[in-house]
Amino acid sequence: MSDSLYSWGRYPYAPQTAHACSWRSELPGLLTELAEAHGSTLPYGNGRSYGDSCLASSSQALHVRSLDRFIHVDWQQGIVVAEAGVTLAEILAMAIPNGWFLCVTPGTQFATLGGAIANDVHGKNHHVRGTFGNHVRRFGLLRHEQGILTCSPTENTDLYAATIGGLGLTGIIAWSEIQLMPIRSSQIDSSVVRFSNLAEFFTLSAELDPQHEYSVAWIDCLAKGAHAGRGVFIVGDHAPYGSLEVDARTKLQVPLTPPVSLINNLSLRAFNEAYWRSHPAQHTFKRSSYDAFFYPLDRLLHWNRIYGRKGFQQYQCVIPDATAQAATKELLRVIAESGQGSFLAVLKRCGDIASPGLMSFPLPGTSLALDFPQKASLAALFTRLDAIVLEAGGRLYPAKDAHMTGIDFRQAYPAWEQLEALRDPSLMSRFWNRVIT
Ligand SMILES: Cc1cc2nc3c(=O)[nH]c(=O)nc-3n(C[C@H](O)[C@H](O)[C@H](O)COP(=O)(O)OP(=O)(O)OC[C@H]3O[C@@H](n4cnc5c(N)ncnc54)[C@H](O)[C@@H]3O)c2cc1C
Repeated sequence: MSDSLYSWGRYPYAPQTAHACSWRSELPGLLTELAEAHGSTLPYGNGRSYGDSCLASSSQALHVRSLDRFIHVDWQQGIVVAEAGVTLAEILAMAIPNGWFLCVTPGTQFATLGGAIANDVHGKNHHVRGTFGNHVRRFGLLRHEQGILTCSPTENTDLYAATIGGLGLTGIIAWSEIQLMPIRSSQIDSSVVRFSNLAEFFTLSAELDPQHEYSVAWIDCLAKGAHAGRGVFIVGDHAPYGSLEVDARTKLQVPLTPPVSLINNLSLRAFNEAYWRSHPAQHTFKRSSYDAFFYPLDRLLHWNRIYGRKGFQQYQCVIPDATAQAATKELLRVIAESGQGSFLAVLKRCGDIASPGLMSFPLPGTSLALDFPQKASLAALFTRLDAIVLEAGGRLYPAKDAHMTGIDFRQAYPAWEQLEALRDPSLMSRFWNRVIT
């Protein structure tokens, strides 16, 4: 046992006591022990969730990161079986030299296999590959007093569906088998162009998404008036030739948490303006390493510390296609007016490939994600944003959330009752406690 684990946003500030598990054979005993001693616990992967969904309501986390062994690999078929604490970076380090890549990756390679399944994470290719769960062939799920059950599209199917996007509540994923996709090179051929307003984003997305594996945009959320909704549109594909190299660059790190946030309106405005201007008005092509393309934030370890001791919150919503343009415009207007915002406002069109997960976040529409330094005035801003999202038929991403009301959650995720019925009673998170009561 060692102290202390947190969520990525450090908000809410709720240190978790870590009960580490290093061997699969220890899992059942540890789960029983924690359930008996503290009433409940929650699996914790690598803490890359921003809000309170990775925090145990008992503050006693079952830390599975040390379950980091590969069990079986098949480089003919691109199939990997690994323990749930293995990170996506560790999978890539094995897979890339053999000509394989993750079918879906989020914007950090430090998420674990278990965490990626439990939040059913999505990436820049949602429009062509769906979510991480679409590529999970099976997994072993430990449930209190039931042992480890194999779950797949044909075995324990209700638990398979409930666990993908199930927020760690249905059991502890001990191991999983996933399908990879073949690549010829670890480089990404990308094309970048800036756009002047939101309407241009939607035009670019409609034209370019069908032609490319990856697509994402960055928005200057502080720009107002004629500049509102301006940003940079980025598409990419795995290069058809080149080397198969694993990211081995030394990473910089933020050594300590400053007492106050280093992010303020002045620094944000200047950065956003300079970033937008530094990008070309015409399509510009470049070849980059996969890690520069997918994981720019991972280059600065502990970057979350720059937000200071109060931490920060990410606001991520997805708005259905029918209302996306109008609602996104309104969200950006309210955010710009509030003067609060972030370096990285990410806009992405999600596709219509259904996830096998019961509670998966993406839906066919547009996702907007922004970081905000934590301060009291955020509550009023988020209330206004939530009303726009709900009115537009959208929803918030539990993996990033620390504020959504129970009423909003239950309306946006009607399948919550099915998940609750399949929840392992020995598991409870602060998030679930907040939204289902
Ligand atoms: C820089 C950055 C970029 C990101 N980009 C994206 C993105 O593009 N798309 C996206 O979808 N997400 C994104 N995320 C969020 C992140 O990918 C998810 O929150 C992911 O689930 C974190 O994995 P983790 O291993 O750190 O899990 P944790 O944060 O520790 O836990 C996440 C959930 O998984 C559960 N869990 C963990 N391990 C297990 C297990 N073995 N069995 C059962 N449940 C388990 C936990 O209980 C919790 O509910 C990003 C995060 C960061 C920091």
